[in-house]
Amino acid sequence: VGTLDIRDVAKQYEVNGRRFDALSHVNLHVKPGEFISIVGPSGCGKSTLLRLILGLDRDYSGDILLDGERIAGTSLDRGIVFQDHRLLPWLTLEGNVALALENSGLSREARRETVRDHIRLVGLHGFEKVYPHQLSGGMAQRGAIARGLVTRPRLLLLDEPLGALDALTRIRLQEELVRIWRAEGVTMILVTHDVDEAIFLSDRVVVMNSDPGRIVDEIAVDLPRTRD
Ligand code: ADP
Ligand code: ADP
Repeated sequence: VGTLDIRDVAKQYEVNGRRFDALSHVNLHVKPGEFISIVGPSGCGKSTLLRLILGLDRDYSGDILLDGERIAGTSLDRGIVFQDHRLLPWLTLEGNVALALENSGLSREARRETVRDHIRLVGLHGFEKVYPHQLSGGMAQRGAIARGLVTRPRLLLLDEPLGALDALTRIRLQEELVRIWRAEGVTMILVTHDVDEAIFLSDRVVVMNSDPGRIVDEIAVDLPRTRD
């Protein structure tokens, strides 16, 4: 599972009484377990597209299908990681990750175990009781990834997740993302400004442009995802 089908999606925004095309004729097919990146200039509609896939905005035309079913609102089957970790400061790492499972229907015990597993998955074992401000930038993003994956989503959306990190931490987390992706087998969609990052991480790089926001190219990548 984790097949995403985007068919002829268009999205308009209204600014000062005028409507403009933030997205136009967007078609994209993502296979289960595939890792794709979306690159393109500022304002070409990358975040808008992620918002639509996430189900935050229903005001668009065309179809967005996840495993053949039209997405309807937000759901635990889609996780997201933003550039800023957005962990709640008054909750521990464990508490933050557990919060995502609030409406999962899992028992208390199952939730605790799943939370522990995912904190371990992202390399933060031992930091369960730590508060976000005690974590480094890279560790906080690892926490955000754990929270994004803890519901075992079919799709993980990543909106510039490493964009605010220093160069070394970024490279380390790129390698972590590859490891986590392989371990989980989840379909990943990454938005990034960093073309090298897109090429290193993904099976396919989707290039967008603006006026109107649209896909202008798709490049298959066949590289070993190692820096050795
Ligand atoms: P990107 O993520 O590629 O930088 P966005 O999806 O954020 O692009 O924005 C695409 C275009 O839509 C931009 O011109 C932006 O200014 C505009 N836009 C984004 N969100 C809104 C909004 N809520 N209302 C009006 N215009 C918006
Ligand atoms: P990352 O690449 O995940 O950002 P850092 O380079 O910031 O990691 O930190 C490297 C290591 O230093 C961490 O894996 C952790 O073991 C330790 N560390 C960082 N911040 C803290 C902290 N607040 N408390 C304890 N150990 C820490």
